Amino acid sequence: MIGDAVERSLRSPQVLISVSELFSNAAGSRMPDVQPDLLTDEVARRVVAACPTSALKVDEAAGRTHLILNYGECIACSRCVAAGNGAFRYAERVARCGVRKKALIRRWDIQRRAEVVQDEPALSQAAEQIRSLVGRALNIRQVDAGSCNGCAGEILALTNPYYDLERFGIHFVASPKHADMLLVTGPVTRNMAAALKLAYDAVPSPKLVVAVGACGCSGGIFAGSHAVVGPVDAVIPVDGYIPGCPPTPSMLLTGIAHVLRPLLLPSRRRTA
Ligand code: SF4
Ligand code: SF4
Repeated sequence: MIGDAVERSLRSPQVLISVSELFSNAAGSRMPDVQPDLLTDEVARRVVAACPTSALKVDEAAGRTHLILNYGECIACSRCVAAGNGAFRYAERVARCGVRKKALIRRWDIQRRAEVVQDEPALSQAAEQIRSLVGRALNIRQVDAGSCNGCAGEILALTNPYYDLERFGIHFVASPKHADMLLVTGPVTRNMAAALKLAYDAVPSPKLVVAVGACGCSGGIFAGSHAVVGPVDAVIPVDGYIPGCPPTPSMLLTGIAHVLRPLLLPSRRRTA
């Protein structure tokens, strides 16, 4: 019987997501994107009222009205898509993964119906970053600082044969002493704060830290709870933030690649 299963598995076609399909792919994440041409003052105020985490805000300054979307606070609840009268839809790609905290924020001028700042990392560049990981080695220790396990489940999916994280030379390790990077999920609960700090101190320098999910970026739905200290950067320094609730495996890998980018650029490579 086991032989039949192995035979069937060997005969089935190979299914492995390609790099171009993979990078920044947010399909299924329910992260919102804005259609600026359909954005009105009324829609903006309606979605802001519907948003449970204040990820959406209206900002009025110098006679202009801006709609602000902070991906770091977005829990992908879909309420803005339901209330947005077509101006909000699910994002197919979210390139803002592994970026600094400020870069998680997008802003649209409602009168001009256009995005104000477009410093989104180029998608082709993100793909190149992922490709450049091949043949290298990165050891990651995942730390659950108090998550619901949603983000952890997506991280686990990275290791399955469809995403095949190991083809990029990335491995999960059991001890922070063997790690180059901490991938931290969850808001940091009071019970986990000391353990997170200990894990950070145990990683040999130079080390990288990536905060995962709305909880890791901002505290998410648990922000302000008496049981949490705050987001990951309330306890340890963070190099990059990956939004989502939870982020897709593709967003996770894009974020990891983005954080590694300064180390992979030819000009920064050690030439010794
Ligand atoms: S999907 Fe995100 S931005 Fe939209 S209402 Fe929910 S939390 Fe707010
Ligand atoms: S970001 Fe969402 S999925 Fe991830 S730990 Fe927080 S609540 Fe769970």
